[in-house]
Amino acid sequence: MAIAAAMATAGVVTCAGQTPAGQSVQGSAPASQQPSMLDRLNQMLAGGKSAWSGEQIHTMELLRDAAMKSDYAYNELEHLSDNIGPRLSGSPQAQKAVDYVAGEMRALGAEVTLEKATVPHWVRGAETGELTTWPGQATGTTQKIVLTALGGSVSTPPEGLTAEVVVVDNWQQLHALPAGAVKGKILLFNHPFDKELAATGHGLEAYGNSVVYRAAGPIAGAAVGAVAVLVRSVGGADFRLPHTGLTEYGPGVAKIPAAAVTAEDAELLKVLTGQGPVTMHLTLTPQTLPDAQSYNVIADWKGTEHPEQVVVVSGHLDSWDLGTGAIDDGAGVVVSMQAIQLMKELGIHPRRTVRVIAWMSEEEGSEGAAAYMAEHTAEMGDHVGAIESDLGADHPTGIYYAGKPELGRWLRPVAMVLDANGAGSLESAPETGEDIAGMTEKGVPSFAPVQDSRFYFNYHHTAADTFDKVDKKHLNENAAIMAVLAYALADSPEAAAR
Ligand SMILES: [Zn+2]
Repeated sequence: MAIAAAMATAGVVTCAGQTPAGQSVQGSAPASQQPSMLDRLNQMLAGGKSAWSGEQIHTMELLRDAAMKSDYAYNELEHLSDNIGPRLSGSPQAQKAVDYVAGEMRALGAEVTLEKATVPHWVRGAETGELTTWPGQATGTTQKIVLTALGGSVSTPPEGLTAEVVVVDNWQQLHALPAGAVKGKILLFNHPFDKELAATGHGLEAYGNSVVYRAAGPIAGAAVGAVAVLVRSVGGADFRLPHTGLTEYGPGVAKIPAAAVTAEDAELLKVLTGQGPVTMHLTLTPQTLPDAQSYNVIADWKGTEHPEQVVVVSGHLDSWDLGTGAIDDGAGVVVSMQAIQLMKELGIHPRRTVRVIAWMSEEEGSEGAAAYMAEHTAEMGDHVGAIESDLGADHPTGIYYAGKPELGRWLRPVAMVLDANGAGSLESAPETGEDIAGMTEKGVPSFAPVQDSRFYFNYHHTAADTFDKVDKKHLNENAAIMAVLAYALADSPEAAAR
């Protein structure tokens, strides 16, 4: 999950999948007199009919139940995370992952294409920080600061740089400083991640509120003459873990080195700079190599009636390099792959094409998504829906949808099927995923699982984004959403409203 998607906030919750009041389905009438699921749906959709037939609803139930019993997504994720490992754009592991996913999709009988994307190739180097002067210092000592370079950062001189540290909590405090206060210094943005907001299920909003400092901090710091910028890690858990992520430079503004410090180290710097001058030695030696050739993996499960009409089911294959990219976003890739795997297993061939996409370079600027939009602009009218999973692999409670308001009502039969997994909510959102945002803008109805975001940002972009964080049942619940929704979009008599 990158910057722009996080800044969008989810809209109004409308819960579906619940039996309306006064409509008993567990009465003592003989089975033959009990309303069928389709009857119940049609009653629930008073004034409208289910877009899907009883047989199609049954197919959705089969997909849902098969997803819950499957080992496929879990095993694929283990391979991507543990065997291939971190998949930074332009890296050999990213290429290995492209070849692996393509091979797995071909083995299922999907039609696979590798579509070229030119991606950044940034490589992490040494990264150390230590205080060299601070109030109360014992003679001859330094104090370690735990940090990690932000993605895309330029390097310090190889021997590092030493400068005084200035701490601000936000933009307002920066602008209130006297002219020249930051010149030649290291500027720290100490904006805390709102853990209470995340704890109440709004992790994405908490992320959005803080990630602006990671994204724009180096530009703001350079503009006032800082020699380097530090940001407080954008994440929830306090295990002295730094969280990396993309930062940005602007035209006409000096590129200065940028790193994330842990929440604990940000607090330490705030306390010590409040007592007196603090100087720090900072060494960052990342390199930006020439752009690399990479690929989106496109796997089509061809439609029987309208093969030219496609439903995109996706996650991003690249990851940051500190962990192994299990929750961000290997999980999104494997639950997408599972949609085709289940259709193969159950012999399901929808009217329209189900297109699994493993996107490249979401983390470093969504170059894969941009390449896809450039290549397929003329086909957007035939893109009848797009789904992306990029908020981890915890328990999903339903589906986000972006597009016409009537999509919520239209999807109620699908929500009712998913309600058996506790995933029956339908929530309107302005956008549903960084890689499919371009399609959303072009009017393609867009969707994402509503994942439990209370814990995701504890691990996000850290060394702790590893396979052990993934619960198989929760992963399968996400796979069930991807498969059921993909089928529903691909097999409905009329395409989703747009
Ligand atoms: Zn992501």
